[in-house]
Amino acid sequence: MLVSAFVMLGRVATTAGDELLASALKQLDAAAKALGLDRGMHRFLSMPERTLIVSLPVHRDDGSLEVFTGYRVQHSTGRGPGKGGIRFHPDVTLEEVQGLAMLMTWKCAVTDLPLGGAKGGVAFDPRTFSEKEIQRLTKRYTAAILPIIGPEKDIPAPDVNTDARHMAWIVDTVTMMTGQHSPEVVTGKPVELGGSRGRTEATGRGVAFVTLELLRRMGHGAEGTRVAVQGFGNVGSIAALALAEAGCRIVAISDVTGGYAIPSGIDVREAMEHVKRDPKRTLEGLKGATRISNAELLASDVDVLIPAALEGQINADNAHEVRARMIVEGANGPITAEADRKLTERDITVVPDILANAGGVVVSYFEWVQSRAQFYWELDEVERRLEIYMRRAMDLVLSKSKAYDCTPREAAFIVAVERVASAIEKRGIFP
Ligand code: NAD
Repeated sequence: MLVSAFVMLGRVATTAGDELLASALKQLDAAAKALGLDRGMHRFLSMPERTLIVSLPVHRDDGSLEVFTGYRVQHSTGRGPGKGGIRFHPDVTLEEVQGLAMLMTWKCAVTDLPLGGAKGGVAFDPRTFSEKEIQRLTKRYTAAILPIIGPEKDIPAPDVNTDARHMAWIVDTVTMMTGQHSPEVVTGKPVELGGSRGRTEATGRGVAFVTLELLRRMGHGAEGTRVAVQGFGNVGSIAALALAEAGCRIVAISDVTGGYAIPSGIDVREAMEHVKRDPKRTLEGLKGATRISNAELLASDVDVLIPAALEGQINADNAHEVRARMIVEGANGPITAEADRKLTERDITVVPDILANAGGVVVSYFEWVQSRAQFYWELDEVERRLEIYMRRAMDLVLSKSKAYDCTPREAAFIVAVERVASAIEKRGIFP
């Protein structure tokens, strides 16, 4: 904790960003302790390699000038160029971006991608801006961080409130400023502009692959395994579909309107069609389903529970109600630290977010590879390779968890920290 205290400069964690950074540092501390990591290396890994803070003047549509603050943080480039999304949100702070950049380092390392960790963000509320204003802000931000990004340096991607449109604007800005067509500068692009097939489905499919690998290791077949999924958006619906296709029985799903249970098994494709038809894009009125609350969904009598909605859903108040034997974290941070301890005491296996939802960054890596080669893979090629990366990472994490007699979450950090530290050591500290 000495190192963490140094980085936080004695400040008390007050914002969500402070807490996120403090929690990322705590996880690093635990892995460093388990590995007996050199004190200097531990200290190096607890700090970002590079932090850029930029001020962004942008004209609003009414002609007035506003100035925003943007960040790009590269936590580690020890294993390769930085990789991480760009977030547009009023709560973006330097500490949040630093914590998220560090988590990207571990996520890329645990899945064995030849990439480091980075993150970016601009503090503003995009809901109160027009499309043109957001485009101007994105382009100005890109120009401001251009000195430190690039396919060999740091490759941004979408995150909260940014998507393929923003990535296309970034490609255009870099292309205009360098005079070279530069699709490989970001991932998460529209497919017409060099995006990878299968990127949208990648996180959900990755969640399904690690779940199936866990079942295999537990000696469970997929056939008939009962699964409940919280959140039926991009991650939850695709994970549910892939698991149903593998033979699992999806007995409960939920979204912002509440939970829907069919003990004999939900027809996931039909549920996805239902959401498409619904004017509000929800599961409201799903045929044949019994309405349950989200709290009831989390307490379902199932083998596997997949929280794929929001953070902090399983907490000190409801952890004792969980009946699943296995939890796979589709969302980021769906289990609080206290709940995690309680679940461990009850011998419930949790596959941590940095591994479970890494499918998106794995296919982002494939997109970077394809864009650099200007040669694009078919969907089945993307999925075949994604399965290899996810199952291999899961297998290694479960083996480490046995070897170190620790939880898969601790094991995932151990694998990641060991890989990053080893790469830095092998390169030799410059000069
Ligand atoms: P999404 O917006 O597509 O879907 C979110 C779903 O959660 C929706 O069905 C929504 O109705 C539901 N939801 C919202 N509030 C809820 C509540 N209180 N109870 C139950 N359900 C609720 O988002 P997504 O892209 O599927 O992301 C889900 C989670 O996965 C987030 O934590 C995100 O950070 C994480 N994640 C996403 C990706 C990705 O590639 N999309 C990658 C890594 C992690």
